[in-house]
Amino acid sequence: MIYDPDAETVRESVKESVPAEVADAIRTLIKWSGDDPRREGLMETPERVARAWREYCRGYGDDPAYHLSRIFHEVGGYDDVVLLKDIPFQSHCEHHMAPIVGHAHIAYLPGDYVVGISKLARVLHAFAHRLQVQERLTSQVANCIWEHLKPQGVAVVVEATHGCMTGRGVRTPDVIMKTSRMLGVFRDDVKSREEVLKLIES
Ligand SMILES: [Zn+2]
Repeated sequence: MIYDPDAETVRESVKESVPAEVADAIRTLIKWSGDDPRREGLMETPERVARAWREYCRGYGDDPAYHLSRIFHEVGGYDDVVLLKDIPFQSHCEHHMAPIVGHAHIAYLPGDYVVGISKLARVLHAFAHRLQVQERLTSQVANCIWEHLKPQGVAVVVEATHGCMTGRGVRTPDVIMKTSRMLGVFRDDVKSREEVLKLIES
């Protein structure tokens, strides 16, 4: 096809193509759920769902460590905690593929260098946009920062609701699950840990 930026068909063709077996799998799931995948409203749903899942899981193509590769040595004598608070994120649980929606708080006590603050959120999203369990997501974010930024301490607190608890099973809508992972001084020193938790909770 000749590329013609004005043609409407171009917009259609840049959409990622969905393999027939993927669309079929979603059609099977629709049928299994009790509906008719051939009815009008559901006709294009399998392709949409397939593309949506590529987007939900785009973290598989994203190297979290890459976001920490650009570091800054000059911190102007700053030697206190850096905290990125209330970072919204979405993930999906690996047991039900149901949404996990929440906020993360990421803090570190710099060693010799710092990163641009948006990078911490990028690390979170690179891990969140995969099939996850909240506990692992929390440790992966903390471990990645610990390993690649070599700070004196890392604290990651994640608070989220799980679609598999709110929409099915025990159906407990307002339950928030909270997980945390502390490394370095925040793990070893009670006073430092209390300080960082106070910052996160303030
Ligand atoms: Zn689940």
